Amino acid sequence: MELDPRPVQYKGLQWLLIFATLTPLASVFLYEWSQPLERQAPYLLNATLAVLLWGLNRRAHRRKRFQLAMPIEVQGLLLGLAVSTVVVARLTGNDGGPILPVFSAYVMFVFASVLGLHSADRALLMCLAPPTLVLLWPSGVLWWQELAVLVITLYLGFAARRQINLWMRMSQAQLRQNKRLLEKFRTLSNQDPLTGLGNRRCFEQRLAQSVSEAKRSKNALSLILLDVDYFKRYNDHFGHQAGDECLRTVAQILRLSSRRQSDTLARIGGEEFVLLLPNTDKRGAQRLAEEIQSRLLQADLDHPQSGISKRVTLSQGIAQWHPGLSGDALMHQADKAMYESKLAGRNTISAA
Ligand code: GH3
Ligand code: MG
Ligand code: MG
Repeated sequence: MELDPRPVQYKGLQWLLIFATLTPLASVFLYEWSQPLERQAPYLLNATLAVLLWGLNRRAHRRKRFQLAMPIEVQGLLLGLAVSTVVVARLTGNDGGPILPVFSAYVMFVFASVLGLHSADRALLMCLAPPTLVLLWPSGVLWWQELAVLVITLYLGFAARRQINLWMRMSQAQLRQNKRLLEKFRTLSNQDPLTGLGNRRCFEQRLAQSVSEAKRSKNALSLILLDVDYFKRYNDHFGHQAGDECLRTVAQILRLSSRRQSDTLARIGGEEFVLLLPNTDKRGAQRLAEEIQSRLLQADLDHPQSGISKRVTLSQGIAQWHPGLSGDALMHQADKAMYESKLAGRNTISAA
């Protein structure tokens, strides 16, 4: 599934851009229609900028090239700047005085922050505050015009509140979906698809974690390396698919034998498995290895070509961590012990 990096922001932004277009146009029709063109210019410029941003966003969205869309904060600032010129134009027409720069900065801030707000009520307040201030400013316009603007402003404010609520719900839903996907990807990237056990990547991560945990807690940590004996002959005799099935059975036996949540079971090579056992010493690991051996015997998997038995068998190597030993060195010791088991005739458990 393709992850859409900014659809929620995009939808909210489109909505704001439409209002940013309509508001100055409404101002032109309400107040400035009879004025000369230069007085109408800030409103028209503002509307043009909003339409331009809207067009650019749509294009970027349609082509799924979100990096082309301007960062939302920059768009907010641009719009804020445009709106503040409109406000300045209106107020200077009525002798705005020294408060204008402060007010312009405030409007810019509002536009930049409304887009990134996390509270619909704060957004409502911010949408309502600037136009109310403008309305309260002494001006010579007729009372019904002021009233019309106030009604429009209230409507826009409440519509904004509803929209921002919806916007936040959507963004939360998207966040939850992203989390689920991330969890799924994480599991898949750490799993061996054939057996469902951990893969080498998962094992290496856990090994590093377990070694540092053992260093801190001074608890025991052991490792068992297991390799199927004469597995190439098994494959040659029964075919690759039967070989896969055999590996799945071995994996199931490992799952049944390891009962602790903290154990890590992984397939780290073709027919090579590993058990990482925190809080377990060499003797505990030995007992577990023996249990695996006897369960495998009970599973009674035919292997007529095995040089040592009529059944599938495992060679196992055990190593216990001690202070000063790295994860790699621990693995190396288990590997050496497993090799000793092979030399000792296979179907054997050796400890480093
Ligand atoms: P040894 O007792 O010395 O371990 O001998 P071996 O035959 O088990 O060891 P070797 O390394 O020579 O052969 C391993 C074989 O495992 C080679 C390959 O055919 C088989 N193998 C590796 N990965 C897979 C797999 O995913 N599925 C199957 N079916 N076979 C695999
Ligand atoms: Mg083998
Ligand atoms: Mg091998």
